[in-house]
Amino acid sequence: MNIDISTARARVVIAGAGPTGLMLAAELRLGGIEVVVVECRPAGTVGESRAPGINARSLEIFAQRGLAEEFGSRGKTLPGVLFSGLPMAPHRFDPDWPAALILPQHQTERILAARAAELGVRIAWSTAVTGLREDDDGVEVLLDGPAGPASIRADYLVGCDGGHSVVRKLCGIPFPGDEPVSFWVVGDVRLDSPPDGNGVFGRNERIGTYQISRAEPEWFRLSLMRATPPADRSAPVTLDELREVMRDGLGTDHGLREARWASHFSDGFRQVTEYRRGRVFLAGDAAHTHSPIGGQGLNLGIQDAVNLGWKLAAVLGRGADDSLLDTYHAERHPIAAAVLRLTKAQTALIKPGTQNDALRDVVADMLTVPEVCLRLSGILSRLDLRYPLGEAHPLLGRRAPDLALTTDNGDAHLFDLLRRARPVLIDLGADGLSEAFAPWADRVDLVDARLGLAESRGRWHLPVFGDVSAVDALLVRPDGYVAWVNPAARPVNRDDLVGALARWLGAARTCYAATTFGTAVRG
Ligand SMILES: Cc1cc2nc3c(=O)[nH]c(=O)nc-3n(C[C@H](O)[C@H](O)[C@H](O)COP(=O)(O)OP(=O)(O)OC[C@H]3O[C@@H](n4cnc5c(N)ncnc54)[C@H](O)[C@@H]3O)c2cc1C
Repeated sequence: MNIDISTARARVVIAGAGPTGLMLAAELRLGGIEVVVVECRPAGTVGESRAPGINARSLEIFAQRGLAEEFGSRGKTLPGVLFSGLPMAPHRFDPDWPAALILPQHQTERILAARAAELGVRIAWSTAVTGLREDDDGVEVLLDGPAGPASIRADYLVGCDGGHSVVRKLCGIPFPGDEPVSFWVVGDVRLDSPPDGNGVFGRNERIGTYQISRAEPEWFRLSLMRATPPADRSAPVTLDELREVMRDGLGTDHGLREARWASHFSDGFRQVTEYRRGRVFLAGDAAHTHSPIGGQGLNLGIQDAVNLGWKLAAVLGRGADDSLLDTYHAERHPIAAAVLRLTKAQTALIKPGTQNDALRDVVADMLTVPEVCLRLSGILSRLDLRYPLGEAHPLLGRRAPDLALTTDNGDAHLFDLLRRARPVLIDLGADGLSEAFAPWADRVDLVDARLGLAESRGRWHLPVFGDVSAVDALLVRPDGYVAWVNPAARPVNRDDLVGALARWLGAARTCYAATTFGTAVRG
């Protein structure tokens, strides 16, 4: 839906309709918040395969929002992934999820754009953010649109405007990191004489590790290092340039005939020092950029969006305290910092040189050990993530598993209960829960349930981290992380629960009506 920006009103303005901006906009609409997305491109992306690797945590998030089938039916699942082109010993971090789903980025964006449109997200295309003025009550976002300069006022602005973020620059937020020293080309190409039929992950002493792999019957994904930096990194990569880089690095262009998309990437790494400044937030590539080796960027952006979306909705729509928004930086900054660290290591592994060869040999040896691979895939899939929500129980701060629940209204899975992006308090037979919960009944769905067979064996398993003792109540945030737990067979610690509800949902209120969501809900 395109909109007339001169008459638009919004509580939140999002700069950028890439995957991060689209996901965030949909999350805000689920929370009932008026949102406008401004995008400088005239329309959505077409034909870019750019970020094809969707990790297991992003797939879980899509499942929690009812998008799993849409993604699953369009993408191709991978039972395992390579680590910088090196094979990993057979292992399974979580048998419910594939190691990755492969889907071209333009298709991911199309699914997210369709969902955003369904939820009533409005996008102003051909409209660029050019300035901002913040005051005590809000932020005025200055724009350049089809009809010339314009502005829109909102409570908050979120810069999801990519690695060259204008919002970040307008705020003057530092973006420290490493300057790039090596450069690669990447593209979707047709080859008349491809290597080994389906392509290769090859390595030579001139350009290190390169990829020429068949992505679709007619198309190969090409990624290889160039001997010299591009003259202009923002200029499109031409077919002649691709040929030259291939001949230079491989001694042949493999009959390169056509490229439907091609781009540069480098080993530059940067991360902002603040994810929030006043009424302005940064998310996705606007907050962190790194080499695409390891396929983490889009996933980080989706997960940033899901962390921030419900918090903004809670503050704007449900009276939560503004300080809730500070947890966005506290939780997401360390995650991207860890991804940058791992991605740097993976990038070193693909570079040429005898030291890198030796490092590669050592790592290849380590990757024959299933426990090492398990640990690494916990990080790559982000299923190992734990936000710092306290040490009282091993589940705190971790992703809630997709519990099979039996309720008075039938069977349900936890992920289905999260589709409206509302917190869920699951009562598995705890004593004294409803009394403590009552003042928050309008803001959280209480579900009376029994555990399905798989989870009712008395202990729960956290992949890699082992078994944890069973619980009889848990509070799950809208982003699917466990915010409070009551261990089984212990009376509910009322102060603890009230503290968690107040921390994540805002102060207690007298409630007269509770919401229902297909399962038994009390208020
Ligand atoms: C070769 C390559 C391979 C990759 N492979 C993977 C992978 O396998 N897995 C993975 O997770 N990630 C991968 N990535 C990274 C991934 O593509 C990015 O992390 C992802 O696109 C970031 O999404 P975003 O929405 O934050 O930013 P972007 O996708 O950059 O979107 C930003 C949007 O903001 C708009 N914009 C910019 N300035 C303004 C302005 N002033 N006003 C309004 N709009 C503006 C832009 O037009 C754009 O639409 C890869 C990247 C590259 C280059």
